[in-house]
Amino acid sequence: MKQNEKILHIPKIDLGIVIDHIPAGQGIKILEIISKYEEMKDVVVSLGLNYESAKLGKKDLIKLQMEYLSPEIIQHISIMVPGVTIKAIKNYKVHSKVVVQPPKEIKSLLLCKNPNCITNTEKHVPTLFRTTDAEGKKVKCNYCERIFDLHELETVV
Ligand SMILES: [Zn+2]
Repeated sequence: MKQNEKILHIPKIDLGIVIDHIPAGQGIKILEIISKYEEMKDVVVSLGLNYESAKLGKKDLIKLQMEYLSPEIIQHISIMVPGVTIKAIKNYKVHSKVVVQPPKEIKSLLLCKNPNCITNTEKHVPTLFRTTDAEGKKVKCNYCERIFDLHELETVV
């Protein structure tokens, strides 16, 4: 087998989005996240598992045949699986790429666990959390000011 054949199990795309450097085993998690979004309904998706990676040992990879990934979805991925690389492909070449990290402010994505929080009693108030530590593992509700572990909070979508 030639080296190229080994790497390129998934066909190259002329235009699309590649989510790369996903730690092995997390690809399915990202797929679950993005498939919840309505705009992803008709997008052609390829999932590659356990590719060899110099950086990670093994990695997963997702290719999306779409031009543009919304900031909401990128935010969601950056929170659930930080550190992945999102590349935009044009004419079979990497046009731009960004390594996603959790944002300092998380808007309209997480649900506050405090039942008395205004974001729960007044449903039209969008949630807003801010990270309170360098790793972004703890977040504070902007309204009721309670602090939660990021992973104990449910997401809106
Ligand atoms: Zn709250």
